Amino acid sequence: MENEIVSAEALKRMEEAVAEIRLRMKTAALAAGRQPGEVRLCAACKTQTVETVRASAALPIDLFGENHVQELVEKAEAGAYCGKPAHFIGHLQTNKVKKVVGRAGLIQSVDSLRLLEAIEKEAAGRQLVQDVLLEVNIGAEASKTGIPEQQLPALLEAAAGCTHIRVRGLMAIPPVNDNDAENRRLLARVRELARHAAEQRCDNIAMDTLSMGMSGDYENAILEGATIVRIGTAIYGARHYAAKP
Ligand SMILES: *Cc1c(COP(=O)(O)O)cnc(C)c1O
Repeated sequence: MENEIVSAEALKRMEEAVAEIRLRMKTAALAAGRQPGEVRLCAACKTQTVETVRASAALPIDLFGENHVQELVEKAEAGAYCGKPAHFIGHLQTNKVKKVVGRAGLIQSVDSLRLLEAIEKEAAGRQLVQDVLLEVNIGAEASKTGIPEQQLPALLEAAAGCTHIRVRGLMAIPPVNDNDAENRRLLARVRELARHAAEQRCDNIAMDTLSMGMSGDYENAILEGATIVRIGTAIYGARHYAAKP
């Protein structure tokens, strides 16, 4: 990640983009009879530079979401988040848990028992309680991460026994879909799964967070109960993937 100064033009573009997203978030929340303040905007800033992230931190973004451990570490150490929380939203390998526990305010993407256990062990060793979301594969696509919904009860049961983990809710990435009704059906399914889970009243589980909705479907997600929307492209434009050497 090269640290270039962010041009005034790029900053203005970002400012306008975030203002529009905020407005649309508010409109969707009100349309659903919800308080706009219930929904947080997570800027999905994978591949964006430290300087771009730092510039965006001055905008009305609530928190940042990182997909890669290395980027989380680099940007955190460079102070790019300017004191705003950073969440981990990508697939997390168990051997990298050490670098994320305690650093990410919320690990949104717990997608296996192995990962849950690795986080519990690390958090216990550091005497802290790590907030997490369980990621469900809601469109049941083989290519996507997340557990099949049938495995959710078992993972919740395991989490109930983890005294250094608090499950705050669910995260999902429904498949990109031009069919609005189908998109909403899948988002509503996530909300239903969270409601069922909350009804179990397990230890260490507080189902108060639903992370769903991206650049293409965040308004639908808010209509269906999202409390965090994760938006990348609509804020930053296209992602900057480094050329492989
Ligand atoms: C990149 C990413 C996003 C944001 O996607 P956009 O379509 O660019 O808004 C959201 N969630 C996760 C997990 C991502 O990896």
